[in-house]
Amino acid sequence: MNKFLVFLEQRGGTIKKASIETWNRVQELAAEQGDSAVSGILAGPADLKQLDGYIVGDGVIYHASEECLALYNPERYARLVKDTLQREACTTLFFADTILSRELAPKLSVRLKASLLSGCAMSDVAWHNGGCVRPVYAGSAMASFLPERTFRIYTISSCATPAISNARGTITVITLEPHSFASEPLFSVVRRNLMREGGLDVAEAGIIVAGGRGMGGTEGFFLLEQLARLLGGAVGASRPVVDEGWRPQCEQIGQTGKTVAPVLYFAFGISGSLQHLAGIGSVGTVVAINKDCHAPIFDVADYGIVGDVHLVLPKLLDTLQEFLKRK
Ligand SMILES: Cc1cc2nc3c(=O)[nH]c(=O)nc-3n(C[C@H](O)[C@H](O)[C@H](O)COP(=O)(O)OP(=O)(O)OC[C@H]3O[C@@H](n4cnc5c(N)ncnc54)[C@H](O)[C@@H]3O)c2cc1C
Repeated sequence: MNKFLVFLEQRGGTIKKASIETWNRVQELAAEQGDSAVSGILAGPADLKQLDGYIVGDGVIYHASEECLALYNPERYARLVKDTLQREACTTLFFADTILSRELAPKLSVRLKASLLSGCAMSDVAWHNGGCVRPVYAGSAMASFLPERTFRIYTISSCATPAISNARGTITVITLEPHSFASEPLFSVVRRNLMREGGLDVAEAGIIVAGGRGMGGTEGFFLLEQLARLLGGAVGASRPVVDEGWRPQCEQIGQTGKTVAPVLYFAFGISGSLQHLAGIGSVGTVVAINKDCHAPIFDVADYGIVGDVHLVLPKLLDTLQEFLKRK
């Protein structure tokens, strides 16, 4: 029997949409394969009722609800996942491809002597041999990988699918006994500084309004923020924008930023370099606004507007406001 374990990541008690997607995709995989079981591991206090209507398939979620796991701690999380994996005799571990899993998954692969395949699209994983095809060199080539070890760890990139609501799944929650972490050489997280309070995380957003160097400076982003608010989306940025200090690093999209998977992505004044495109490979619809009709972003755009962002953006906002008023 195949036994799959999915790491469910929470922040502030809210389970990440990307983790729920990963769980649902692993359930599809288990259903295809037959003779497979899916379980989940969740670290930190969280109300699991939030999963109602969003999670498919049957399975067990092991919940370590201790307060000391509320904030990410690599040592504690690694130990918890490793213990659960071994206790439940799972050989395959899945993470959503997030900033956290980029640290935790390699750590676990060393401790478990497991093959690690990161940034895979679930659809590109060939399950008969556990291999996967994924983009390399910032998306300029595709490479095939085959895991050599019995233990396998995958981090799964999200793709632009709407969240499933009214989904049916029967989940059994097992609250784990508190771990005795005290004897370990640990460091503690003393304080967490949020760069921006309350904003939607680009990695979780269904709509992203991203700006590049063509926005011209910090002020250029005021209108983008307004547009993002109207659409219920998040503001994203290219790397030069972050390097210039116009926007915080948490908004950076691309090879050295976040990988995003919204259903709708606006690129304002972004040229479309390979490194930026590496972060938007799974986006649904791309709308590009650029004054240079030869900008590479138009090669990946579904809709394009050739024009100055400072002229297009106010008109777009006016039209949208009118439209929303009439609705
Ligand atoms: C190792 C490495 C990692 C990298 N990682 C990332 C990453 O994670 N994310 C990332 O984004 N980049 C990354 N980069 C940088 C990347 O190579 C590009 O330099 C960057 O993406 C360009 O950002 P940009 O499109 O905002 O700026 P530019 O390339 O300067 O493009 C600006 C665009 O705005 C247009 N424009 C200018 N004014 C206007 C206007 N008024 N109206 C409309 N359009 C206008 C221009 O025509 C141009 O197309 C990385 C580079 C390296 C080497």
